[in-house]
Amino acid sequence: MVRRVSILGATGSIGQNTIDLIRRAPRDYDVVALTGAGNVAQLARDAIDLRAEVAVTGREDLLEDLRAALAGSGVAAAAGAAAICEAAARPVDWTMSAIVGAAGLAPGLAALRNGKTLALANKESLVCAGKLMMDTARTHGARILPVDSEHSAIFQALTGEDIAAVERIIITASGGAFRDWPLERLAQATPEQASHHPNWDMGQRITIDSASMFNKAMEVIETHEFFGTPHDRIEVLVHPQSMIHALVGFNDGALMAHVGPADMRHAIGFALHYPQRRHLPVERLDLAAIGQFEFRPPDERRWPALRLARETIAAGGLTGAVFNAAKETALDGFIAGRIGFTDMADIVAQTLEDKNASDGLIGATMTLDNVLRIDHLARNAAEAAMNKRAG
Ligand code: NAD
Ligand code: MG
Repeated sequence: MVRRVSILGATGSIGQNTIDLIRRAPRDYDVVALTGAGNVAQLARDAIDLRAEVAVTGREDLLEDLRAALAGSGVAAAAGAAAICEAAARPVDWTMSAIVGAAGLAPGLAALRNGKTLALANKESLVCAGKLMMDTARTHGARILPVDSEHSAIFQALTGEDIAAVERIIITASGGAFRDWPLERLAQATPEQASHHPNWDMGQRITIDSASMFNKAMEVIETHEFFGTPHDRIEVLVHPQSMIHALVGFNDGALMAHVGPADMRHAIGFALHYPQRRHLPVERLDLAAIGQFEFRPPDERRWPALRLARETIAAGGLTGAVFNAAKETALDGFIAGRIGFTDMADIVAQTLEDKNASDGLIGATMTLDNVLRIDHLARNAAEAAMNKRAG
């Protein structure tokens, strides 16, 4: 059966890996919408090649460029955040949510309202609005399949199991670019240095978040929101090889580990073919050649983001929206050279403490409007904290 699919964030790292899998079996898919942002040439090329119905850029100023690149192809062009949501709402069987940041929230919700399958790479939507995402899926009979490698691993380890028998969930972390740096050097780390991941090839933002462990911090929140696990039963384990992605511990002492190569096409392909398993073009691990797996506890002095994630979960309500907005703003500040690497965690910690970041909305109902209001307020509060630091 031919399945209708859309890819939100098609020009990014996850989007391109998704397209790679779809291109291998073009007759199995009807591509409906592809979305991107700045890279309209790439977006247009893929949309034409995959015969998409519509290509949408988030950048309204690039609509004419996109139109020109699509001229005569029969692919419709659109631009802007609202147009991305409209494209995401087109009826399809399967949607990949792979926009980076809170910008992925509204399109993800629009796709969920179709009542079909949302393959979720955009972890920020679970961090800033987990309950809203899960409730929307339930209300509309939609299914969310995790695409983050750790969460896909947990999901797979839980197949056929009773969630009530789960004692703990362990997600692994490579430790990122600065795993072995002396602590006192971290403050001087540059965006360039933070943008090299030892094992994974990913977008720049998540790569820097891996070095700071903000990525793992978000994944702790993501695990809590998606699987309902209390935060004190979610452990982070440093595993430099990135081959065990997660382990689920059961009440009889068993640990089910998911082992696989550091290639996102595994988790994407699992979500694409679920509930079947199909052949995927990823490396087969030669464990004898690998020889050994290492594990270490995470050092919370090196990675304060982990503590901030637990505090965010414990605070509850809409705190995740503050956490995410503060983190995105601090990351922008680091990339722009306005603050140092270790300042990012300080800015997030300060913003979490700042009443102006939520204006009394922490306990409010989790609606898209309230999440976006907090997102706006928390970005301003984080900006103010950065300006103070710089000045
Ligand atoms: P990326 O930066 O490579 O791609 C991001 C995509 O989002 C691009 O298509 C870009 O055009 C689009 N985009 C960016 N800003 C936008 C905006 N304001 N409006 C609309 N579209 C916008 O990022 P990525 O590494 O592919 O990550 C995508 C998501 O998947 C992130 O949430 C990330 O945390 C998650 N994720 C990525 C990986 C990975 O291996 N790359 C692994 C796990 C989870
Ligand atoms: Mg991950």
